[in-house]
Amino acid sequence: MSIQDSDQGRPGGDDTAFLLRQPATSRERPGKVYLVGGGPGDPELLTVRGARLIGSADALVYDHLVGKGILELARADAEMHYVGKEAGAHTLPQEDINLLLVRLAQRGLQVVRLKGGDPFIFGRGGEEIEELVQHHIPFEVVPGVTAASGMSAYAGIPLTHRDFAQSCIFTTGHLKDGTCNLDWPVLARPNQTVVIYMGVGGLGEISRKLQEHGMDPRTPAAVVQYATLPQQRSVVGTIASLPALVQAQGIKPPALIVIGQVVRLHRQLAWFRPREALSQA
Ligand code: SAH
Repeated sequence: MSIQDSDQGRPGGDDTAFLLRQPATSRERPGKVYLVGGGPGDPELLTVRGARLIGSADALVYDHLVGKGILELARADAEMHYVGKEAGAHTLPQEDINLLLVRLAQRGLQVVRLKGGDPFIFGRGGEEIEELVQHHIPFEVVPGVTAASGMSAYAGIPLTHRDFAQSCIFTTGHLKDGTCNLDWPVLARPNQTVVIYMGVGGLGEISRKLQEHGMDPRTPAAVVQYATLPQQRSVVGTIASLPALVQAQGIKPPALIVIGQVVRLHRQLAWFRPREALSQA
């Protein structure tokens, strides 16, 4: 029932009750937040649902891993909020991002919170949604192609393979307390693929710890920077040789480390070579 219907036939007294209710926009169309995965970089890898929501949103809240081609899908009159989030240089603290989403939705806006890759893989999407839940703000989550999948496809490194890897682990090289204290015995096991997000800064330590925990120093390993984008670069070596190779090539984030026998397949399967700077150990 609309406000007009309920007020019909009751002039006078109910007018003040009407004024005390929500502002007009949120009454007619309550705000909602769509947590959308923007994919790994190539705008063509955005989901159809993500593209449609971005194209109709009143407001977009995005960080630095979201490509320009994706932002161009936004309405010309959409509010654009850049909230940064480069490693070590958070433009807006996480709590402020959470509150910004709440505030925009409370104004009755359809908000797209656009995150790189998939919002629930090292994306802190869960934290942002918890805040929305606390404020009773409706939300939906739209998955995205995570960086590991984009890298795998575009660098020609399958994440699993019947002969080489029966399982695959996604882990982060950058913990909340700034350390890199991972479950080394598990990561050092054979017959699996390990993909490390946010690990380039800690690559030296990662390489050392894995070998200390029994990984064969000859295990193939690669770093792929700007996966799926025209600037994509792959550096391929072994877990022992990779840190020096990556340093020599000056590879900086965003980049993924991928470790395991599947890395061997890169030579044959890499089809996307916009400007490969290949290094072989
Ligand atoms: N939610 C994102 C991950 C965010 S964490 C996802 O699902 O992909 C940020 C890290 O992701 C970066 O430090 C880097 O390790 C990785 N990453 C994101 N985009 C990348 C890209 N195009 N190429 C290589 N690594 C990428």
